[in-house]
Amino acid sequence: MATITDPFLQSQLEERKRRLEDALAAKPENASLSQLLQEVDSALHRMENGVYGVCEECHDSIEKDRLLADPLVRLCLDHLTALQRRRLEEDLELAARVQQRLLPPRPLRSHGWRAHYHYEPLGVVSGDYCDLIASDGGPEGLLFLLGDVSGKGVAASLLMTHLHAMFRSLASVGLPLGEMMGRANRLLCESTAAGQFATLVCGRATRSGEIEISSAGHCPVLVLRDGEVARYESTGMPLGMFCDGDYPTHRAKLELGDSLFLFTDGASEVRDTLGGEYGVDRLAKLVGCQRTLAPEALTAACLKELRDFSLGAPKADDLTLLVLRRED
Ligand SMILES: [Zn+2]
Repeated sequence: MATITDPFLQSQLEERKRRLEDALAAKPENASLSQLLQEVDSALHRMENGVYGVCEECHDSIEKDRLLADPLVRLCLDHLTALQRRRLEEDLELAARVQQRLLPPRPLRSHGWRAHYHYEPLGVVSGDYCDLIASDGGPEGLLFLLGDVSGKGVAASLLMTHLHAMFRSLASVGLPLGEMMGRANRLLCESTAAGQFATLVCGRATRSGEIEISSAGHCPVLVLRDGEVARYESTGMPLGMFCDGDYPTHRAKLELGDSLFLFTDGASEVRDTLGGEYGVDRLAKLVGCQRTLAPEALTAACLKELRDFSLGAPKADDLTLLVLRRED
């Protein structure tokens, strides 16, 4: 039986207490406010007594991401009432619809590049982040982004929507890539709870075939050109982990027909029924053999291979693939 006495959650509760007391001072007859204040006081008492974050039904720990979202919850997911469960399902479905709407159109053609992606949440919502932004203000080109937020479920999907909004606004400013990553890192450090971070690749592809790629602790980017597969490894620490981070960039020039292949670890870490991992080496070999395919076909071939490999073994993570190919 684990208890949570996270100073962050405690400060959250104390902040709520202060606000409720202020509101009640103005409207002392408000019954729902006093009920809420009682609940907050009770949560603070549980924290003092070392039983905060413990399910009142089974005495197991309550999910940490749910406590972060609502510090007053008293039951673990397994012990919600039917009504609470139905509300939660409705909220999740709404969150999933919001998340789907944040995805870029596909296939997308822009600045001489054709892009296609596959976005597959493990549950209802995903902690993977994928975006394509055509930018004409400042440095011209197609910005491509693929990331993976720490954790899973609702908390991860919230951070994913935060990343989406942040990069959309940073992109509109037209900053150099490394600087954009540095700013995103600082913004994330300042705005998220400790322990929440994201690995992420951010790149820019121009009409003349120049590409620039910066990676914050993400899986390698596979560059398919000259009949071979090059790997561009990470150039910095995950976003949100340390406030001061440097994000150098890889640069290259791609010819017509060359491609970039990006993935989250939900792809490279697919397992077979015996627990064996697919791995980056095999993935690189596969896309190397299929490098002449268009983005849609390459994505499909890769998914088929991963499904054949797993032979129906249960999935363990969100999975996203993103392919960009230089075309006329
Ligand atoms: Zn329980």
